[in-house]
Amino acid sequence: RAKASLTGEFCFYDVEMDEAARDRTKMAKELWAAIDAKQFHLNYQVQKSVSTGDITGYEVLLRWYHPERGLVSPVDFIPVAEECGAILPIGEWVLREACREAAGWPVDHKVAVNLSPVQIAHTDMPALVHQVLLETGLKPSRLELEITESSIFSDKQRALHALRAIKALGVSIAIDDFGTGYSSLETLQSFPFDKIKLDRSFLIDVERSEEAKAMVRAILALGQGLRIPVLAEGVETSHQLDILRHEGCHEAQGYLLGRPMPIDKQLLTEAA
Ligand code: C2E
Ligand code: MG
Ligand code: MG
Ligand code: MG
Repeated sequence: RAKASLTGEFCFYDVEMDEAARDRTKMAKELWAAIDAKQFHLNYQVQKSVSTGDITGYEVLLRWYHPERGLVSPVDFIPVAEECGAILPIGEWVLREACREAAGWPVDHKVAVNLSPVQIAHTDMPALVHQVLLETGLKPSRLELEITESSIFSDKQRALHALRAIKALGVSIAIDDFGTGYSSLETLQSFPFDKIKLDRSFLIDVERSEEAKAMVRAILALGQGLRIPVLAEGVETSHQLDILRHEGCHEAQGYLLGRPMPIDKQLLTEAA
């Protein structure tokens, strides 16, 4: 089928593209209903100190259990939620739920919550964070918010203003997936981040390739120079962890140290 585009040219859509678009619209509708339907659950992935092995915190990873679709990956539904705006109530739910749960833990570990660029652009995040901390009684120093460079990309002044106000509450800010964006170095200069999360892609070849190791080393040196601790994402092998230790990386997160899972199990294991 051919359809006239705005410029008067013809573009072709095949049946699959039509279906994909329809499915996104359907998914968007379902996302708006998913909180009330109690289809969202939080998983937590442990973060550890590389030198001591001590637990430093847990990252919250959202899971969507849909009655027909089954478990849907955030990689598939977060972009749809961002496009249709459902990320605003969903993100608020994640923040409130994570802070409420963490406030009840028998230990003082940090809880790290992912923020969408859409939340930063369209919500008064400092006010929301402040309100949720008051409501849940979580100490601000136990909350960390993970943002990606795309958060700063769209409206830099607004984003930096919001991040400063959040930091002023005593909450820390990590830059997520570092090294994959367009202007990583500039981003680091524009805001005093509390943590750099080195993207998983850097670890994939670190065991075999000197070039990959040089990249990791360079980012660790950058963190050191700026006095920002670096956490390596996606650590899957003990060899990777050895390399990170040798290169002076501060924290690590990945399947080797723990899969994302419900928190109860993990706190019980820790207590044992
Ligand atoms: P992220 O924040 O970079 O989270 C890390 C992702 O890497 C998670 O995928 C985690 O399960 C996965 N991962 C952890 N360790 C390993 C490892 O050793 N190997 C491999 N291959 N993967 C590992 P997940 O849970 O599918 O989440 C994907 C992305 O979805 C997250 O990337 C984050 O950007 C987004 N996301 C998840 N939860 C939320 C949320 O509550 N709000 C927002 N805005 N985004 C979220
Ligand atoms: Mg993250
Ligand atoms: Mg990440
Ligand atoms: Mg990542």
